[in-house]
Order: sequence, then structure tokens, then C-alpha cells
Amino acid sequence: NYDKNNLLANNHGDGKSIHVDNGPAANQLIKGVLLEQVARINTDTCDPDEENAFYVADLGEVYRQHMRWKTNLPRIKPFYAVKCNPDTEVIRLLAALGSGFDCASKAEIDQVLGLGVDPSRIIYAQPCKTKSYLRHAANVGVSQMTFDNADELHKIKSCYPNAEIVLRILTDDSASLCRLSTKFGADLETAADLLRLARNLELNVVGVSFHVGSGAADPSAFSKAVTDAKWVFDQANLHGYDLKLLDVGGGFTDETFEVFAAKLSDAVEEHFPPHIRVIAEPGRYYTANAFTLATNVIARRDVSSLPSTPRSANSNGSEYSATSTTEKSYMLYLNDGVYGNFSNIIFDHQHPTAQVLRSYGAADMDKLVEYSIWGPTCDGIDVISEHCYLPGTLDIGDWLFFENMGAYTKCSATRFNGFKDVHETIYISSEPGASALLGY
Ligand code: PLP
Repeated sequence: NYDKNNLLANNHGDGKSIHVDNGPAANQLIKGVLLEQVARINTDTCDPDEENAFYVADLGEVYRQHMRWKTNLPRIKPFYAVKCNPDTEVIRLLAALGSGFDCASKAEIDQVLGLGVDPSRIIYAQPCKTKSYLRHAANVGVSQMTFDNADELHKIKSCYPNAEIVLRILTDDSASLCRLSTKFGADLETAADLLRLARNLELNVVGVSFHVGSGAADPSAFSKAVTDAKWVFDQANLHGYDLKLLDVGGGFTDETFEVFAAKLSDAVEEHFPPHIRVIAEPGRYYTANAFTLATNVIARRDVSSLPSTPRSANSNGSEYSATSTTEKSYMLYLNDGVYGNFSNIIFDHQHPTAQVLRSYGAADMDKLVEYSIWGPTCDGIDVISEHCYLPGTLDIGDWLFFENMGAYTKCSATRFNGFKDVHETIYISSEPGASALLGY
């Protein structure tokens, strides 16, 4: 029940439909677009892949997150972590908003450069780089890059001796959703040794970086990391370096942003004078909430008569709650799973929540039906929700949708079982500022 007249439907030239809405009712707008799209698909007659899962991306959400960033962290320039979601429209919007980019590979560097971004707005934030990619970075002028070990310094010396290199230090990321310091980052003692070696190799160390872990949960990790970075700045001074750049990495989430930003700002102000340039590499913060995924029910199995898990109205991750449930129980099979866009369940420890994309009445809400939700591959690990309750009896051809599917989803999908990455993205904008910048 959204107002279609608020939508200025047009075409972006590459087959993606664009809707623009000047109102704030983003959720209603997204639901309307989802309903409109699925109404076009008849699973009884459609061609193969026409009923594929698809995304609705609200670029207005990315825009709002950027404004929120500027309000809370005015001194810190974001370099969006492309790995999180390399969606071209997201990169285009962030480029227009003045963001820089954290790239982890040649492909990401080329994608961002291909959209007209100046190489000075890219940091190659991968401390262990492929040699040929390093030579490529030199050829295209992406000079800012991280390192955290002696071998990398020798590699940089041979492939890109003039690079502006940033020493990545270890953090305490034990409270984060995805730990990174088990793999990257020099401890302080090693950092001092690396500065000495860099000086001997006559390399251009320009700054210090860290990452407190993706989905960080402890804001004091930022305070400690900033203090450690300050110590490395002082050490660098002893080796004749005058560092100018602090890179505070990613780890920000939508839910905790203001608390983390306040802690980080305090630490930066305390330890780093205004002439030090401060950047960050946020990924999840920008895109997690901006993408909604719609998936089709391709098969169903009635398991009501089988002995099942104990039934409770407090099902795992359900949007719905009711006082009573039916005795029915089904396994639902969707056309997307953990080998596809739900890769975030495996790699990013997420628990996506299913919602029903069709109208249901109060009676359905009062009597919820028990489901487990599975992906389309032949593997038993391909489960999206082992146990949840949804309103009404869903059938083959019905659609489910999942909000907050914008971070570490599509980018880590595989082609297992021959399922290709052919998922349409319908772009909408619930912010006129974003629409104007993108030329929609
Ligand atoms: N920077 C680096 C070097 C990373 O490895 C990552 C994520 O793995 C990010 C930034 C983005 O982190 P987040 O999405 O938590 O902001």
C-alpha cells in the first residue's frame, strides 16, 4: 500500500530499474517495490531464472549513513571497504559524496578507478599483496598501501619503492564478530623492528593503520588501538619518520555507531594533533541495511507428522510472535542459500530473518506455522533457518524477503551446484540527495 505516484520510475540504461521517492517511508517503499516485482513473475509459466532471488537496494540508506558519519566523525574521512559490497551504484554514490575507497585486490582497484575515482582516493589495504598486483598498483598510481611484515617490505622495495606505506598494527579484536588480527597486524615490538627495516630499505612510511575486527563489540578496542598507534608514531619519529596518516580501519555497525564514534573521536583528539590526517575503512556500516533480498519458495515438504524439535512460540530469529501455533510443520526450499547470497550465514555469522511477502490476515498472525528454511543445493549444510514461525501456510511459488542483506552476502557467493550469480538489483532512493547525486 505505497503510493505509486511517488515513484519516478525510469531506466538507468543498463537494464536496472530505478525508483525515486522523496518521502521518508523507506520501508514502505521497499515493500512496495518487492510486491510490484514479484507480481510480474508467474512461476507456473516463467522461463528458467526469471524467478531468481533479487535485491532491492535503497541508496538513500547509504546516503543517510554517510551524513551520520559526517556528523559524528567530522575529522575522519571514510574510505569505503569495497570488499563488503562491491555494488557499482553504491561505489558511484560514495564517490560522488567524496568518500575514498579501501581496495583489497587488483579487481577492486580497477573497478573503483573505472568509475573515475582518482588513485589518490584509494588505499590498497591488504598487508599481504600479490606481487603482480603490487606492480599493477604502481602502474596505475595507487600509492597508499598497508604492510605488517618484513617480507612485504622487501616485496614493496622491489615492486614499488616509492609507495606510501602504512604500518598495520595488531588490535584486541576478541569481542568482534569476525576477527582479523589472527591473520594481520604487527605487535608493537615487531612494529618497531619493521620501522627500522623500512628505514634501512629507504621506504616511505607515512602512517599507521589498524582494524578492531568486523562487527566490533567493544568500543574500548578503539581507544587502545589509537593509543598503540600513537606509540608507533613516536617510535617512527626516533627512526627519522614524520608520520602524517592514521587509518582507524572498519568495524563500525549501524546499531553501535554513535557509541563507537564518540570513543574513537575522544581517543583521536587526545593523541593526534589536527595536522594528522585521519581516515577509516568502514564497510558493513554503509551497506548492511541498504539491501533487502527476496527469494522464491521452490519446494516444500510437509513434516507435520514427523517427530520434530520442541515447539515454542519464541522461534529462532522470527519477526513474528503469536500466542498460539498450528500443528503443521513444513520444510521450505528457497532458490537462494548459504552457497549464494546467504553466504553471510557461514562467513559473517549472521542470522537472516525471513518475512512473508504477501498479505496475510489477523487469523494467520494468531496461528503461526512452523517452518525450517533451506537453500537450493544438495548439501545439508545449506540451511537458512532451522526453526522459525511464519504467518499462514506458505506454498511453492510464494516469496520470502530478508532485510539487512547488504554486507558480505553477494560478494562471497559461490557457483556451487551450477547456480550462477544472476540476481537483479532494483535500485531505489528514499533520499532526494542520493537521487540527485546519481542523476536518477
Ligand atoms: N578494512 C579491512 C582491511 C578489512 O579487512 C575489512 C573487513 O574485512 C574492512 C576494512 C571492513 O570492515 P567492516 O565491514 O567491519 O567495516
